[in-house]
Amino acid sequence: MKSVLITGGAGFIGSHLVKKFAQEGFNVTVLDKLTYCGNLENLKDTKCEFIKGDIQDPGLVEKLFIEGQFDLIYHLAAESHVDRSISGPAPFLETNIMGTFNLLQSSLKYYDCLSGQKKNEFRFIHVSTDEVFGELTHEGYFTEKTPYKPKSPYSASKAASDHLARAWHATYKLPTIVTNCSNNYGPNQYPEKLIPLSLLNAVNGKTIGIYGKGENVRDWIHVEDHCEGLFRVASQGQVGETYLFGGNAEKNNNEVIKELCSILDEIKPGKKHWELVKYIEDRKGHDFRYAIDDRETIKKLGNYRKYDFATGLKQTVLWYLENQGWVDSVLKRKEEG
Ligand code: NAD
Repeated sequence: MKSVLITGGAGFIGSHLVKKFAQEGFNVTVLDKLTYCGNLENLKDTKCEFIKGDIQDPGLVEKLFIEGQFDLIYHLAAESHVDRSISGPAPFLETNIMGTFNLLQSSLKYYDCLSGQKKNEFRFIHVSTDEVFGELTHEGYFTEKTPYKPKSPYSASKAASDHLARAWHATYKLPTIVTNCSNNYGPNQYPEKLIPLSLLNAVNGKTIGIYGKGENVRDWIHVEDHCEGLFRVASQGQVGETYLFGGNAEKNNNEVIKELCSILDEIKPGKKHWELVKYIEDRKGHDFRYAIDDRETIKKLGNYRKYDFATGLKQTVLWYLENQGWVDSVLKRKEEG
């Protein structure tokens, strides 16, 4: 049975990836520090070994590699919220840059001791964001060839980590692959990002804050589609290459919140949830638009998407409404700071 290490596996995307690999019959080990957004509840129905720890801890990571004899590393552990990176960038540099550096170094030490088929098939898959490319105007798309131009402390730290992953391939021949994905949505997402935050505010009759005029555009992908793409990268992806994942669902924030409110209006008749919207001061340096051209990825990995935005959003809303226990536990931890 093949073994995979997933860093950040107790977080939003990580927990879906853990589930995918467990379902596919892999031996899955999760390394996660359980920061405010890491949550063991996300893994409660999934077969995996959980190790609580920091990716910046060289002793722990090296020991884990020797014991785990992994075939694949998926690196998702990160500080991931742009707003937090603006108010407090230090943990973003520490985890996203130095944490990635530490993982690459430990992976290389481990990889250099492998031989035969195990060495040929070993992959380090670095999971990143489309935000590293900076912003688009109304026109154009990000492709594998788009130059990096990150603007927020978050995207700058992720860009640095992407460059490190590529450098460890170019310099030391560590078989790394980088993936860049657009905005994810779906179950298990910590309620500080647009969709779960607005959803829970709407359900609780609280103000739904929208930055600026609500005209910033993102491409939305269901988290299971992203994980399907990530899963395929290990077997079909080429070492040293980059794969872009997107949802083919460009929406501005007003459109996202309108769709969300109309789903809630249907489920809870008599209420007009859009009336809770209030436009608030824009995020500093708010990127105007992100959009992905994933035709190259689809050509190489096949079509990895099964959700359209309307179906995925409805499934997400229903999940949050049906999982009040998850919501309560997360909100309780949020209040406790
Ligand atoms: P998340 O914030 O939900 O989860 C991050 C996980 O990493 C948490 O479980 C946290 O406890 C863990 N973690 C943080 N610091 C750690 C450390 N020092 N050591 C060990 N574990 C640590 O994030 P997410 O939205 O699931 O994103 C996962 C990855 O995917 C990130 O690398 C992010 O940059 C990338 N990504 C996210 C999106 C998105 O829309 N959410 C889009 C593209 C790429």
